[in-house]
Amino acid sequence: MSGNYGKVYLVGSGPGDPELLTLKARRLIDSAEVIVFDQLPGKAILGSMPESAEKIDVGKYAGNHMMTQSEINKVLVQKAKEGKNVVRLKGGDPYVFGRGGEEAEVLVAEGIEFEIVPGITSAIAVPAYAGIPVTHRESTSMVTFITGHEDPTKEESGLDWETLAKFEGTLVVFMGVKMLRRNTEELMKHGKNPKTPVAVIERGTRPDQRVTVGTLENIANLAEERKVKAPAITVVGDVVNLHNILGEQHTGTDF
Ligand code: SAH
Repeated sequence: MSGNYGKVYLVGSGPGDPELLTLKARRLIDSAEVIVFDQLPGKAILGSMPESAEKIDVGKYAGNHMMTQSEINKVLVQKAKEGKNVVRLKGGDPYVFGRGGEEAEVLVAEGIEFEIVPGITSAIAVPAYAGIPVTHRESTSMVTFITGHEDPTKEESGLDWETLAKFEGTLVVFMGVKMLRRNTEELMKHGKNPKTPVAVIERGTRPDQRVTVGTLENIANLAEERKVKAPAITVVGDVVNLHNILGEQHTGTDF
């Protein structure tokens, strides 16, 4: 490690409710010299970045990245080599579908000190605010996180639908809005019960959170009718039924 280099903090911002930011994340954001961010942390948290920090917007969450991953990596390396302390702010948890692992690898290869600051992942918190515990003693003791791919131009999903259709636990699907129809069809084609409950939760834990509940066979139509947009988490499994009992929770913060 070079003594003249700054340090990079890979900081998870949680799903959007600013009160779900960790104390460590808050402290590091408040004292950062440089903050490298994308839009996923959401308005409330992005709006709380200090005036004094240099703020570099490296992308948007639904496709259309302003910078490629390798350009983002370069920015992190360059700023750290300038001796700056850098916060790389990422929605949810940096190591859950956030490409944080790749960024950390680059920093290690460049001899730059880094620290990971886990965040509350949307995989758990977003269903929770929608009244859906991802595990429940009476319905399932297993949960799997998968990516549904926002990119409809990708023909191959890389997912093993046969195994996923057989899986009896809860499926939590990231980035699955554009591919919702294909994904639900694949699950049914491989034998999953069309009546399996499904919820799509948009902008979870934020003031405009919206929950759409259906089944494997009708959720794609419902989502189309309601013009469901990213960022959204899709939950597949019996735990979705708890939404009717536990109800939706909204953030207590006025932002
Ligand atoms: N590292 C993040 C995930 C990054 S991938 C985490 O741990 O949460 C981006 C995807 O995360 C989005 O497409 C969406 O599926 C999900 N996501 C993140 N925040 C969300 C929110 N507030 N509401 C719904 N989905 C969200």
